Amino acid sequence: MTSTTGTACPHCGWPDRAEPYRVVSRHPTAHGHTTWVRCACGSLQARLTDGRGTRVVSRSCPTRG
Ligand SMILES: [Zn+2]
Repeated sequence: MTSTTGTACPHCGWPDRAEPYRVVSRHPTAHGHTTWVRCACGSLQARLTDGRGTRVVSRSCPTRG
């Protein structure tokens, strides 16, 4: 099974550690911020950044058309 919190986009292989393809929006949280990112394949990611780093907490399917 492919985890939604792996190390790369399961749709196009874009590394989660790489710079976001496109930042959609950014929202402050109690300990950092959440960044919504559009991947190269069109998938929308939610990245949570806190004192321990950044991780992808949610990932949608690519939208086409
Ligand atoms: Zn992707």
